[in-house]
Amino acid sequence: MSNKESLNFVEIEVEKDLESGRYDGRVHTRFPPEPNGYLHIGHAKSICLNFGLGEKYGGKTNLRFDDTNPVTEDTEYVDSIKKDIQWLGFEWDNEAYFASDYFDKLYEFAVRLIKKGKAYVDDSSAEEIAKMKGTPTEPGVNSPYRDRSVEENLRLFEGMKNGEYEDGSRILRAKIDMESPNMLLRDPNMYRIKRATHHRTGDKWCIYPLYDFAHGQSDAIEEITHSVCTLEFKHHRPLYEWFIEQLEIYPSRQIEFARLNLENTIMSKRKLLQLVNEKHVNGWDDPRMPTISGMRRRGYSPAAIRNFCDRIGVAKRDNVIEFALLEFSVREDLNKVAKRVMGVLNPVKLVITNYPEGKTEEVDIDNNPEDPNAGTRTMPFSRELYIEREDFMEDPPRKFFRLGPERNVRLKSGYIITCTDFDKDPETGEITEIRCIYHPDSKSGQDTSGIKAKGVLHWVSVEQAVPVEIRLYDRLFSDPNPGGHGDKDFKEFLNPDSLEILNTAFVEPSLKDAELGEHFQFMRKGYFCLDPDSSDDKLVFNRTVGLRDSWAKKNKK
Ligand code: ATP
Ligand code: MG
Repeated sequence: MSNKESLNFVEIEVEKDLESGRYDGRVHTRFPPEPNGYLHIGHAKSICLNFGLGEKYGGKTNLRFDDTNPVTEDTEYVDSIKKDIQWLGFEWDNEAYFASDYFDKLYEFAVRLIKKGKAYVDDSSAEEIAKMKGTPTEPGVNSPYRDRSVEENLRLFEGMKNGEYEDGSRILRAKIDMESPNMLLRDPNMYRIKRATHHRTGDKWCIYPLYDFAHGQSDAIEEITHSVCTLEFKHHRPLYEWFIEQLEIYPSRQIEFARLNLENTIMSKRKLLQLVNEKHVNGWDDPRMPTISGMRRRGYSPAAIRNFCDRIGVAKRDNVIEFALLEFSVREDLNKVAKRVMGVLNPVKLVITNYPEGKTEEVDIDNNPEDPNAGTRTMPFSRELYIEREDFMEDPPRKFFRLGPERNVRLKSGYIITCTDFDKDPETGEITEIRCIYHPDSKSGQDTSGIKAKGVLHWVSVEQAVPVEIRLYDRLFSDPNPGGHGDKDFKEFLNPDSLEILNTAFVEPSLKDAELGEHFQFMRKGYFCLDPDSSDDKLVFNRTVGLRDSWAKKNKK
């Protein structure tokens, strides 16, 4: 057993069960997504928790698709979910399971309940059933069909299965208690008639179990010990326990935790699907989406996401996490692994007038000063370079340690230069060219010049520079809680400036060999990665996150 202080409350409960021998010392969890959308960062939290418990206690974790709703589900989602879990670094036990594999078994469970007099077929319409449910303060009333005989119920339920009745004309309900203070126990629906093709079982079934009659039973069939889910299922627990007791099947233990909410983010799959379908974003893997696939494309690493999930912990009460904390975790990991390179996003040309024309020399650069094993590479230096437009000011204030007339700066890994002159477009006032001299005895690493230069600038050599497209991202929503404005549509809070595309940028030649999944730090500009939209003609880089950290600063003790 572990040091109790560092345990989250779910681990504490699991350890209690281990100590008491409740499940013969077994820990077997599951992650149960519904394949009706792509996984998002909230799912990542659930994945880290469930698979984490399996790993920590030498147990197992199943992946089970809760695919009881044929209308919204699709194999595209099944494949993406598998890919995302593996990418996060987790492995499920055996093959993936599907609730739809249990349809026969669930049908048999339903028959068992009918035979015990614990379920009945109701011919009332959905509206009538809703009316009879009562309200949280008023008890419900019994359906006129509640006291049908076992034989009649068996015959009608079989008829439902055989397609003898219209969709929605009959429904199988559990016979529990119409006066229960817990509305979910007021004879909940178990099976509905729905003629829809299922992504796995095709047209075999025209009746489908409701989630509440499938989920707990699936846990039992798989002999899951700890069924960890989000808080909204707390009220369902008595119902799941009732089914398990009546059916005398494996008693998995449900433990609820608070779902992850992130500022400026929508986490409902239904709403994310709207963003995709209405083309507010370019697909589920748009780098602005809170999906795992979007974050992967954006350049977030699996380790960063796992660390974030660890850091936010597991709570019993709902809370909202700052987006900046996620970005802090991303920077923290990328700082360790990203290769340092140079890219100039908004270039202006700089000519070193005393540097020989046609000459190119290679300067050495560390690939990553944070990683002693990352090695070095070379980068071409020549008479004509691009530097960042914002690194030059015609009339700079004293505290501006970059370039201005007669000022010195160091070119990173190169020489100290002194600005002698510049050209300006008379109409727009835009700087068109900067001229400098360099100091040959000031080369980085062997500087004997004695010249002082406070600022260090990144640059690329014009001749070898590679033009690229750069995509800069901002929050997808400008409101911290886009889904929390009552009747207002969440899409009203979309940030119109969430994507900025730059077609001015140049990067160093080594980036021609950049690969998908590699992480780069463009010095002074942030972390970047290659986007799959790249072609041989045009490389596209996404900015994963800027360098400046707002979270650590604010939360410094
Ligand atoms: P929807 O977004 O349509 O309401 P869902 O988020 O419940 O659906 P599921 O596919 O049922 O989606 O989720 C699979 C698992 O992930 C569930 O156990 C669920 O509790 C968990 N989960 C979903 N969202 C979050 C979240 N924001 N934080 C933590 N866990 C989550
Ligand atoms: Mg769900």
